[in-house]
Amino acid sequence: MRWLLLLALSLTLNAEFRAGVARVKITPQTPVWLMGFGARTHPAAEVGLDLYAKALAIDDSAGGRVVVVTADLIGFTERSTTEVVRRVMARHGLRRDQVVFLASHTHSGPAVLDRMTISQGEGPAFDREAETYTVGLIDQLDQLIAAALDKLEPVTISSGWTEAGFAFNRRTEQLAVIRPGETFPAPVDHRVPVLRLKRKDGRDFALLFGYACHPTVLTGDTYEVSGDYPGYAQASVEEALPGVTAMFIPLSAGDQRATPRGSRVLAQKHGKSLAEAAMSAKLTLLTGKLQTAMEEIRLPFASHTKEAYEAEALSSDRFAARRGKAMLAAMAAKKMPLDTAYPIQAIRIGAISILALPGEVVVDYALHFKAKYGSRVIVAGYANFLPGYIPTLRLQREGGYEAGDAMMYFMQPGWFTDQVESLVLNGSTRALKSVGLLPSGSTSGSRGSLSPNRVR
Ligand SMILES: [Zn+2]
Repeated sequence: MRWLLLLALSLTLNAEFRAGVARVKITPQTPVWLMGFGARTHPAAEVGLDLYAKALAIDDSAGGRVVVVTADLIGFTERSTTEVVRRVMARHGLRRDQVVFLASHTHSGPAVLDRMTISQGEGPAFDREAETYTVGLIDQLDQLIAAALDKLEPVTISSGWTEAGFAFNRRTEQLAVIRPGETFPAPVDHRVPVLRLKRKDGRDFALLFGYACHPTVLTGDTYEVSGDYPGYAQASVEEALPGVTAMFIPLSAGDQRATPRGSRVLAQKHGKSLAEAAMSAKLTLLTGKLQTAMEEIRLPFASHTKEAYEAEALSSDRFAARRGKAMLAAMAAKKMPLDTAYPIQAIRIGAISILALPGEVVVDYALHFKAKYGSRVIVAGYANFLPGYIPTLRLQREGGYEAGDAMMYFMQPGWFTDQVESLVLNGSTRALKSVGLLPSGSTSGSRGSLSPNRVR
């Protein structure tokens, strides 16, 4: 009997992973207003590259389960993911922390309501177009998750890191204008995390890879629906490895941009170089449990006066005027947003964990977790919904677009308070601890873990 118990325990510890994948084309009807560049003056009539949403379901045969949904979209919205999760939780018995949505942040895709309307498109026709797309997307994502969960098969999962060099810190340009003569740090994170899933017969099943860089290789003067460099990277992988599903994980790209950029040829070139890096990464087989956790915190906004919004409402900048008017209306209705929800997710697959953070997370966060956890944590941004930019105190002190000025494009009241960095770091640390992960060199609390592959 004891022998049987030990056998059962060891089977649990060396859990077999099973996985299922599914995809759905989410290319909008053209002509369509593309989201991300306020300067675009008309809808796009052509499709450069089809957009996809993809779902990967993994379970560990010991009760651990996760569904990772990726999409060639500028961002998911709270409305879209909340509704999809409500449906799939009821039907599949999933917990909220077992489903994560990651948007590539392409600036050449459609609007997803109810916040993502960063374009000059407005009025009843635009609203109908965006509403129709969002309602359809919710149904598609619902069916996509069901399809991935429907056909789980045994897989092995390996992970590793490689590099790609085309991202640079875009803040240098604006800081030279707003604070001339001063010098500032311009950190980048060129690391490319890779998760590779193979079928029992050795054939490729899925390849997940991430990068910290804005998908703005196609700029505001291009008018074609496209997944930008992440779309081309996924297409390159799927062309090179028949039968594989390639999925892009957006990382801490808030202040990162590709160079050179400005054409479809360059989007293809960066995509191909990223795909080649991901396919050639040296990998280590993952064993152990699949664990998930969610830490729900709130990020408070700095307070702003009615006078400031009155002045903004009169601005010649259409986005400033739109925000000013919206905030005055919110104040009048006593519905002024004081903070935003900020759910932090941790997904641990043996030795590697994905920390999924909502919003345009700046690269400082990736470098912080790299210093604290080494290569054990993949810091994903653009997760679940897009509340705005997530700066660090360093950026808030420097000022500028990512520090808080860009929040008007997200219809948020303004900058976050200077607590944002510590709130995000502390919440993340708690989420990682919930899946059994402690900072390097830390010993307290890690004793007694049943994980067979405690990582160094
Ligand atoms: Zn962005």
